[in-house]
Formats: sequence, C-alpha cells, structure tokens
Amino acid sequence: MQPYEMTANQLKQAIKTRELSCVDVVNSFIDRICGADKHINAYLTTCFEAAMNNAKMHDDITVKGEDMNNYLAGIPYSLKDNIITKDIKTTASSKILENFVPPYSAHVYENLTSSGAILLGKVDMDEFAMGSTCENSSFGTVKNPYDLSRVPGGSSGGSAAAVAAGMCAFSIGSDTGGSVRNPASYCNLTALKPTYGTVSRYGLIAYASSLDQIGPVCRDIEDVALVMNVISGKDERDSTSTASPHKDYTSYLTEDIKGMKIGIDMNLIETGLDKEVRRIYLETINKFKELGCEIVDLSFDMQKYAVPVYYLVACSEASSNLARFDGIRYGTRHTAPTVEETIRLSRTNGFGKEVKNRIMLGTYALSAGYYDKYYSQALKVRRLISEDYNNALSECDLYLCPTNPDPAYKIGEKNDDPMSLYLADIFTVTANLTGTPAASFPAGFTSDGLPVGMQLSAMSQREDLIIKAIYSFQKNTSYHTVRPEI
Ligand code: GLN
Repeated sequence: MQPYEMTANQLKQAIKTRELSCVDVVNSFIDRICGADKHINAYLTTCFEAAMNNAKMHDDITVKGEDMNNYLAGIPYSLKDNIITKDIKTTASSKILENFVPPYSAHVYENLTSSGAILLGKVDMDEFAMGSTCENSSFGTVKNPYDLSRVPGGSSGGSAAAVAAGMCAFSIGSDTGGSVRNPASYCNLTALKPTYGTVSRYGLIAYASSLDQIGPVCRDIEDVALVMNVISGKDERDSTSTASPHKDYTSYLTEDIKGMKIGIDMNLIETGLDKEVRRIYLETINKFKELGCEIVDLSFDMQKYAVPVYYLVACSEASSNLARFDGIRYGTRHTAPTVEETIRLSRTNGFGKEVKNRIMLGTYALSAGYYDKYYSQALKVRRLISEDYNNALSECDLYLCPTNPDPAYKIGEKNDDPMSLYLADIFTVTANLTGTPAASFPAGFTSDGLPVGMQLSAMSQREDLIIKAIYSFQKNTSYHTVRPEI
C-alpha cells in the first residue's frame, strides 16, 4: 500500500515505528496530487515547499526522539478555503477574495500546526459555503472521484474529493446545513458535524454564525476521533466556544453498542427518497439490529419545517455577515468615482449568482415590515423544531436516516432547479438548527457504484454515542475501505 492510500491512523503508526519518514509520506501525497488533481480539480492553492520543509523538520525532531507528543506529526491534510491561513491565500471560492492573503490564522489551523499535521493546501468549495454540489465555486468544478461526470457534493466538496482520491489523509470542512456530511456521503467518507461550540469558529469565514460548525472529513471514524482530539476545545476568541472539559474522542472507539436504541422514521422515507438510498437505509437498519441495537419508531412532526426555517435563518445571517465585503477594507476592489459606487461595483463583480440570491433573500427577510413575518417567525419555529427533536431523542440514543435523499448528481443536472437542491437538505439541516452532533458514514453503493452515506445524530454533547455506533458498524462492514479507481 502506498502512503497516500493509508488512513491517518495507519500513517501515524507507520511514522511512529519509523517504517515511513514524514518526508516519504508527504512526497507520496504530493505525487498523488500532481497525478490525480488534474482530473479532480480539488486544490485551489498548494503549499508543497512549506509542507516538505515541515516534513523534514518533523523527521529531524523524531530522530532526536522528541516528537512523540506531536499527535499528528507528519500527517498531510487540506483545509477548506474558508478557513483563514496566515500568509496563505484564502478565497472562500469567491472572486471578491480572489487575492486575499490573511494576516492571521484560524484556531483549527493553529491547533493542527502545533500537533504536527502538515498542510498540503486549500481546497475548493461552494462560494462562501452556499451550496450542496461545489458547482457554486468561482474557480471551476470539482469532480467526484467515483464518477468524474458527477458532483462531489458540497459545500466542502473539495475536501471530500481530495480525501477520497488520496490527495490528503484528511480535510477540515465547515458545516452550516450539512456541508461536511453531504460530500462525505457522495464520496464514501466519514464526517462529523460536532455539537455547536465544540470547535472554535475563530478564523472561519462566516456564512451563518448560529449554524456554522467546523468538522473533520475523513476515511473512517477512527480518523475522525483522532482529528477531533486536536481541533476541539475551548477558545476565548470565539464567544460561543463551549467550556466543556476536554474530551478524548478516541476513548469512544469501542464496540459496546448492544442494547443501544436507534430511532428511525419510516414516514420520512416514504416520500421522495431514491430507490437505492431506501434499500441501503433498510440494510443499515438491519445491520444495526444484527449488532444488537434496538430499533425504535420515531416521528418528527416539525421536520417538514426544517428546510424553510433553515434557509430563512441562513440567508438572513449571511446577508449580515457578508456586508463586510465591500472592496474597501479587504478583497478585490473595483474603483469608481464615489465610495458608494465602488462598494456597489465591487460587490456586483465580486459575488456570484447564488451568493447574490441569498443576500437578497436574507435582506428581504430582515427588512422592516417583513422581519416579524419571516425572520422572527423562523426563529420561533426553530425553537419548536429543537423541542420536537429533543422529545423524539429522549426515547432513544441515536437517530438514523439517510444523509441525502439521492446519490451524487450529474454535474449540471440541477442547474435549472435550485429549489430541489434546497429541499435535498432535509436530513442534514436539523442538526444545525438544533446545534446537535451528526455524522455521515459509508453504508453501501448503488448498482452504478456510487457511494451512499447514512447519518447518525444524537442529543447535544453525545458524540460518544455516534462514534461508538459508527465504529461498530465499520468493524463489521467494509464499505469505508473501498477506494475509487482513479
Ligand atoms: N446546502 C446547504 C446550503 O446551501 C448547506 C451548506 C453548508 O452547510 N455550508 O446552505
């Protein structure tokens, strides 16, 4: 097996026993990117020289026997391009930030750097994380490594495509309404959206601050746990960062799920679910039964409101967050005779179509006269959705549903039908509206060989249950070990 085919845990072990040097590992991934990314298009910026220097530095320290505390020493990764990196271009895949080089770094990047992980580059995404296919990027379309005519999912599509194609061992994405889970499901990966506040958002370019959460996109749940240990924890610079004691996520990698209660909602899947996704959902339910779990019928009456509430809240917050991009303080400026005209021109030329749509929708929902009718109404329903979710979850440990209603779409397939893409977020947005944890994991393939992911979610702070269940599932299945032929 080549280093680029290994999981982060396998690489960690091989580096520790000196079977591989950090330089060997980084070289293998760089070669892979040079060979495969011309087909996939995941990387927007690479930093190979710095990566090689870091690898040499870690090898030197290891030879002196000092590096064993560096948790991720020598493991190559990528960052979604809305995570700020000092001195490395960060664009959020938007023309308005085309040449933006940040003067500081995000909390996650600082933590990963001090753990010894090696950044290979920044990966593509939907502009400002708005989308589910990666087609809203201003810098080209990312391809799904399992079928190059299909999308990798979004908005962290570059992250998922890069991990799936072996162009980094793991990636860090952001999830506002499903953006690490959706592409993980399309690319046969495991990704966790942690409880809101678990990972500091300091240095994450905001989309919708009350929904945004950073999460790892990995090959399996063991890697998710490894990475979570490094990126989670209290950070004073994010006022919503939680003070809960630091957890060891790897301690949840146990198989004791006998008697665990898993909720399912058959009503949800009667409507609009792809046939093969439905088959895989039923197979997954059976697998958990075989593993000794008790399956409980749940119903979420409020679930039908989740998508409209999500889009009202997300667009309203986005319209306010994106007001800072004016071409004056940073980003690309289109100069005109007056300040107002400069701002207007910079925003007109800088933002793409989907971002403009959402700014307009959000501004409308927040305007005097409409605020009570739309935004404040959405907040009330958001609270009811939370209550409903918590009530349902009080009867079981976990809730199982598909991550997406369909396997990966053909590139361009949904161009004329944005509404159906919004509606396809039905299974993922609830975790963001309620601030609860949810993960997507590989659960099977369609007859055309497309990966399909399932989602497990839990009450706030109960990542332990999710990790245990997925770990047991992965110990007893092999879907997550299948790699694309590229
Ligand atoms: N598909 C959702 C949207 O377009 C989710 C995006 C995200 O999680 N960043 O808003």
